[in-house]
Amino acid sequence: MSNITVCARFRPLSSKERRDHGDSVCIRCIDTETFILKDEKEEDIIFSFDRVFCEKSDQAEVYEFLVLPIVRDAVNGINGTIITYGQTGAGKTYSIEGPGILECGEQKKGILPRVVDGIFEHIKPDKMAKYLIKLSMVEIYMEKIRDLFDLSKDNIQIKESKIEGILLSGATEMSIIDPAEALQSLSTGIANRAVGETQMNTASSRSHCIYIFTVKQELTGDKRMKTGKLVLVDLAGSEKVEKTGAEGRALEEAKMINKSLSALGNVINALTCGSGRANHIPYRDSKLTRILQDALGGNSRTALLCCCSPSVSNASESLSTLRFGARAK
Ligand code: ADP
Ligand code: MG
Repeated sequence: MSNITVCARFRPLSSKERRDHGDSVCIRCIDTETFILKDEKEEDIIFSFDRVFCEKSDQAEVYEFLVLPIVRDAVNGINGTIITYGQTGAGKTYSIEGPGILECGEQKKGILPRVVDGIFEHIKPDKMAKYLIKLSMVEIYMEKIRDLFDLSKDNIQIKESKIEGILLSGATEMSIIDPAEALQSLSTGIANRAVGETQMNTASSRSHCIYIFTVKQELTGDKRMKTGKLVLVDLAGSEKVEKTGAEGRALEEAKMINKSLSALGNVINALTCGSGRANHIPYRDSKLTRILQDALGGNSRTALLCCCSPSVSNASESLSTLRFGARAK
């Protein structure tokens, strides 16, 4: 059985899509798992995922189905990863952050603030057990890893330790003692990301943003620590860059994004189709897959949310996003 859950999410039509292309959508949901996409040639393509979230689905539904099981496991020492994939504007950041990380209201808040609440709801500190929760936030741009809690650390290296697994050498780890503090740290990281963008004249849609929560459980009288890592990934936009139009940095960016997204696809594929231990998993093909190595492999759980626009004008990008998801099953 594969331990990857693949879901699709269609956001509502944007006002621009409505204005330019009318109300026509390329997607029809059949039931909670099955939906049909009408491609550019007007052909129906049927998909069956673990769950499809149509435009009326709310943030709580996505969290409860896709994320909550991973939160429960992480506080018990099992690693997990939640990844949002899709073209720019498809709803990846909305799904992860919500309309804003602080004060966006109970209903609209995204996966991140819900994960924070979930972790604190599920840990049970008492005389026997102590918990240590840490948070790191990094961004991968052009295969370079930057610390979003300290922008001066702009070339973080990945190390592997026998005991702790994959480590980001020197990356800031914020100790988190309550949900309010965690949200404050997250909003600092997100604001830093915007500062970095302005400084370097880049766009957040061209980099991968990675949030790493580490939950360490220390039992009295027991030297061993149980550690669970929960990683959230807001991927760079998966859209194809016009072969003719892009040049210079835009072309280099597109190549790098392409390379890391296909590396991710290959790793997930090797994990789900793999036949036993002999199977080679190509984690080292990109920084992204290398960071995710111990949160994707082993007995960890993975959730992939394929975010799509429902507009006919984006049918071909939506199709390619859904094919990525279908391949991961
Ligand atoms: P991405 O991160 O994939 O580039 P965003 O998450 O920024 O895309 O979404 C693009 C726009 O669509 C934003 O204005 C966002 O608020 C809106 N949006 C995305 N998903 C939803 C949704 N499920 N419900 C309402 N608005 C959404
Ligand atoms: Mg985004």
